[in-house]
Amino acid sequence: MEEGVTDEGGQKSRQGEPNREADAGELPTDVAAVREALLEWYEAEHRDFPWRRTDDPYEILVSEVMSQQTQLGRVIAAWSAFLDRWPTVEALANADRSAVVGFWSEHRLGYNNRAKYLHEAARQVTEERNGEFPRDPDGLQELQGVGPYTANAVASFAFDNGAAVVDTNVKRVLYRAFSVPDENGAFETGARDLMPAGESKAWNNAIMELGGVACEKTPRCDEAGCPWRPWCDAYASSDFSAPDVSAQSRFEGSRRQFRGRIVDVLRGQEALALDELGPKVRVDYMPEGTYGREWLRDLAEDLAADGLVELDERDADLDSDSGTDTDAETNATVRLRR
Ligand code: SF4
Repeated sequence: MEEGVTDEGGQKSRQGEPNREADAGELPTDVAAVREALLEWYEAEHRDFPWRRTDDPYEILVSEVMSQQTQLGRVIAAWSAFLDRWPTVEALANADRSAVVGFWSEHRLGYNNRAKYLHEAARQVTEERNGEFPRDPDGLQELQGVGPYTANAVASFAFDNGAAVVDTNVKRVLYRAFSVPDENGAFETGARDLMPAGESKAWNNAIMELGGVACEKTPRCDEAGCPWRPWCDAYASSDFSAPDVSAQSRFEGSRRQFRGRIVDVLRGQEALALDELGPKVRVDYMPEGTYGREWLRDLAEDLAADGLVELDERDADLDSDSGTDTDAETNATVRLRR
């Protein structure tokens, strides 16, 4: 296949082929063979992370939350130590929140709010759900701090009941292997159509593994024995470009960009509540959405750690046994440090 080109809309097409609709992933006709090849490769080759040997939703949730900001190699030790200390969801629910947050800091697992949310989620499962985890992505999203990606991962890996994962690795694989256009809707359609029904656990693990160890930024097609070489457009064409990550787009939408915007908005203001600040920082701010309160709070904590802003937590009741933190988060305010 020939070199890839960029059309006026910025979407990649390959010379000699018609442009595809942005939402129309085009998969090989022998999709059953494509699926089987990947699943067999995964069974034979996959890395042996300890959370891949369990289907306990609590253990999987802990691994997912830890992996959000920490490299997998470091997560292994932290995950084992965490489960030694709090082996069940009940044990975590009964722990002191300060001990959980202390563990998080000690193991450098990123934002302490994740520890607070995890503790709160354990309390919800134990006290409100009789110790039973929700079994589908919608139900799991009702747990504190569990967003769509984590909910789907836990539903997949604990209950084999999730949808197809679409993360950066999966997008790169789909883009290269089947020329799925660089557009979110197309990636979602392609990932969904490719996943064998009812096999989200094996499938999501397998395709994420492919993106993690074979179809990396610099692909290792032959060294990793990629099972999709017979079908892969990039392998055939030696065009291994990936979805657009130009220098400009790395800045557009980056944390650095939004940190700057927060500081700009706060200039000349006394203090703003998170939900007042959010819509001034990005037009698609939705308190409970992907770019919502949790996202904004993480950025504000970052800036506070750098001494640029003050975050008035007003969530002291998070550390009590009584409160939930939803209202408290709404009330948290941010101001420039004078
Ligand atoms: S053959 Fe290479 S480029 Fe294609 S999916 Fe496999 S690792 Fe990625």
